[in-house]
Amino acid sequence: MSDSTDQPDADGQRGDLPAESALPEPFPTDWTRCLVLVAHPDDPEYGMSAAVARWTAEGRSVVYVLASSGEAGIEGMAPSIAGPIREEEQRRSAAHVGVDTVEFLGFPDSRIVNNSALRDAVADSIRRHRPDIVVSLFSGPEFGPGMPNQSDHMEFGDAVGAAYDDLVAAVGVDSREGRPQMWFESDPQPSHYVDVRGFVEPAIDALAEHKEYLSVLDPRTPVREQAKAQVERMVEPVDGLADGNPVVGFTRMRP
Ligand SMILES: [Zn+2]
Repeated sequence: MSDSTDQPDADGQRGDLPAESALPEPFPTDWTRCLVLVAHPDDPEYGMSAAVARWTAEGRSVVYVLASSGEAGIEGMAPSIAGPIREEEQRRSAAHVGVDTVEFLGFPDSRIVNNSALRDAVADSIRRHRPDIVVSLFSGPEFGPGMPNQSDHMEFGDAVGAAYDDLVAAVGVDSREGRPQMWFESDPQPSHYVDVRGFVEPAIDALAEHKEYLSVLDPRTPVREQAKAQVERMVEPVDGLADGNPVVGFTRMRP
């Protein structure tokens, strides 16, 4: 998120840094229950889980609901074998950041579409868990120039937005009734940030639990090293924020 913020322009200002008033704000703290909705195992592990570790350490409750079991994600492994392995890796991973409840909705990995079945399943999970806030994965078309997002992430994010809007449309927000106050996405150009100083290690531990997945993805680099490099890249400090501590960014999508 800080790729272009350290280039001074002619008058010594950082050219691409937003005006001070446009800097991300601290993430809200007036909530206790969060539902994290993502498409695949390991989706929470690229930065978001550092924020989750902080939230659960503060006594908040966080639940993970995943659209798929990631069964198509391990090259050379049959989906019927990969699915259960990835579910187990996700459960162990979640435990590192204080998340005890991990659910899988059973939608097909790499073929996720924003259809009524998916929207209904998302809405049902929101109603059951009654979160104050919903957090999902970035659903924009690209993370940065030349870094396109995956179709599954975009379709799923759209389904989360539609489900949220349907729940809230008729009668407004009331988390006791399963209509959360806020919906955030993780975002490389965020509106809000969480200071994750002290919570980077558990996030690395969480990503490193995706052992089978990471060791097939990059057989030459030890899994723990891969996890450390990935997480540290995602929680880089941003000039002007959080006293230079590592941060995780989110954008407030609703209301
Ligand atoms: Zn994913």
